[in-house]
Amino acid sequence: MSTPFTKEMKKDYTILIPNMSPIHFNIAKEVFVNHGYKVVLLDNQGPNVIREGLRYVHNDICYPAQLVIGQLIDAIKHGDYDTNKIALVITQTGGGCRASNYLFLLRKALEKCNLGHVPVISLNLKGMEKNPGFKLTFFILLQAYSAFVYGDLLMALANQTRPYETKAGEADALVAKWTEYLSDCFAHNRGYIGWAMKRNLNRICDEFALIETKKVEKIKVGIVGEIYMKYSPLGNNHLQDYLEAQGCEVMVPSLMGFLYYGADNAITDRKYYGGRFISAKLTQFVLKQLYKVEKMSRQAMLKSGKFTVPIPYTEMKKLDEGLLDYGVKMGEGWLLTAEMLDLVHSGYTNIVCTQPFGCLPNHIVAKGMIRAVTERTKEANIVPIDYDPSATGVNQENRIKLMLAIARENLEKNKENA
Ligand code: SF4
Repeated sequence: MSTPFTKEMKKDYTILIPNMSPIHFNIAKEVFVNHGYKVVLLDNQGPNVIREGLRYVHNDICYPAQLVIGQLIDAIKHGDYDTNKIALVITQTGGGCRASNYLFLLRKALEKCNLGHVPVISLNLKGMEKNPGFKLTFFILLQAYSAFVYGDLLMALANQTRPYETKAGEADALVAKWTEYLSDCFAHNRGYIGWAMKRNLNRICDEFALIETKKVEKIKVGIVGEIYMKYSPLGNNHLQDYLEAQGCEVMVPSLMGFLYYGADNAITDRKYYGGRFISAKLTQFVLKQLYKVEKMSRQAMLKSGKFTVPIPYTEMKKLDEGLLDYGVKMGEGWLLTAEMLDLVHSGYTNIVCTQPFGCLPNHIVAKGMIRAVTERTKEANIVPIDYDPSATGVNQENRIKLMLAIARENLEKNKENA
């Protein structure tokens, strides 16, 4: 019997949140703080995390589950928390893959280590589990959405600036400055809609454009894969840092793209399997409004004239035409293949595809689609990298180095042909 998170608990319980994407989650965390929750975004790393994951989760389960559950249990055991005053939060997608079951795996793991009394909150948009003390209100959702839009923009701008900056650290300092500023905006109930958001998006682009950069040619590498592996440095062994240290510029597709894809799937479901007409129409309406914000963010980037601007979600979707059906929507589904095509079209022809152990859906749409992608875009240079508890960093890095060697050759050839 699981312990619900009650209204009384909201006052003095600390909610522990696993950190999937540092830039996005640092901003989004403040949304919950502003709505009266005490939250801690976890940053515990190291071998203890996966050790705890393997101790309490079956080793056949997918790697992100082992990491997320391991990180939570490691934090409880080694952090300075009163276990009678904490709650945990975990996402529940409600889709067909195992991400719907992480919640139950976590509860089982807690029981095994005599922590069954700790409430676990399901973060989902489908009303799958209700907790009286934790409600995703309209304003929380709206602010969280804006936090992710800002997060995507900051991530894209920082990634395109950091490798070229004359004074090291300026891009990261701007990310920190804007994270603080946006947190303050949200605390004062502003900056997350309309003209105020537009002004912030424009200012962010202007400030990044002002950072002095060197004109050097770098290898451009895109990162795709299962959502946790793609963003989480804990999951992908700090892949982005490694690539940047090897002299690359890194592009990671937007988190909003995944959220649009999740909502869009509800419309596909209605088309293929029936379902409530009204909820499909409502989703369509909401998506239209969200696309307006996506446009606002893209326009801010375009105006600065200095950055590679991501294509709109609806355009990205078209890239899969003739390759994959939109009914392929387990895990990252058709979106992952579309992201690879988009990266190649945008000049990020070298791609690392992060694949976690135990993830059948993403092996199909990632590794399984590499041949189709390279047939369509001859310049694509893609390497799938497996992540699991026994995979050594050295092995992963060696495979990435081979991909980078080809990338360097291609860069030289392009220079000669220019
Ligand atoms: S997408 Fe793959 S790794 Fe992620 S929860 Fe589903 S099966 Fe597991």
